[in-house]
Amino acid sequence: MKYHVLTLFPEMIMQGLGVSIIGRAMEKGLLELEAVNIRDYANNKHNKVDDYPYGGGAGMVMQAAPVYGAYEAVKEKIGYAPRVVYLTPQGEVFNQQLAKELAKEDDLVFLCGHYEGIDERVLEEVVTDFVSIGDYVLTGGELPAMVMIDAVSRMVPGVLSNGESGETESFEGNLLEYPQYSRPEEWHGKKVPEVLLSGHHANIAKWRREQSILRTAQRRPDLLEKARLTEKEKDFLSK
Ligand code: SAM
Repeated sequence: MKYHVLTLFPEMIMQGLGVSIIGRAMEKGLLELEAVNIRDYANNKHNKVDDYPYGGGAGMVMQAAPVYGAYEAVKEKIGYAPRVVYLTPQGEVFNQQLAKELAKEDDLVFLCGHYEGIDERVLEEVVTDFVSIGDYVLTGGELPAMVMIDAVSRMVPGVLSNGESGETESFEGNLLEYPQYSRPEEWHGKKVPEVLLSGHHANIAKWRREQSILRTAQRRPDLLEKARLTEKEKDFLSK
């Protein structure tokens, strides 16, 4: 998977993503990351990339031409028109399903806006997906791009060392993950649930599934409506 992030702040992207699991996957060559500086495609003496909005109003708008130039440079380099995600509070809200879908691409372009956003005309020409990371407004698209790259990367085969962990985590099957415990067996007077010490795999799996269902019912009842529960599990929940 190759990520191409079109941004005014390349250092933010490169510094933010080179660590931990994603950093390791980059070292292994499973992921590649480039930050394309939109400012390099400004066609004026002062490398200016923004201007006042037509019609008036607060703030500045990123102009179409430099954004288009940055996009065209990526397209030319890879030899085809890739999927382009514009990070925007006006997009569909990002979720695990979309992360899985995007992980199937060979190249992904993330377009980060700043100020009041980007001239609509270039968005119409290059963007394939308008994606928000939640119903709040940030100052720029860099953090949302990093959030998405992190979540998508976890779905790229080989990135997670334990293949299982991707399958049992929250949102798989529309359930939140069960509670986790590690050593010691007792901490602040609280004991690890007995069943987890039993070594009985079937009982552990049953307990974890029940905990997932209970936790989802308590914290995210909206998800539970979409989860596929057996009749037995529905009974368990109603008790
Ligand atoms: N004027 C825009 C509006 O009201 O929709 C908001 C612009 S925001 C201040 C600047 C940039 O931050 C956006 O172009 C976008 O790239 C990014 N951004 C802000 N909030 C975001 C969110 N919730 N999800 C994704 N991107 C976001």
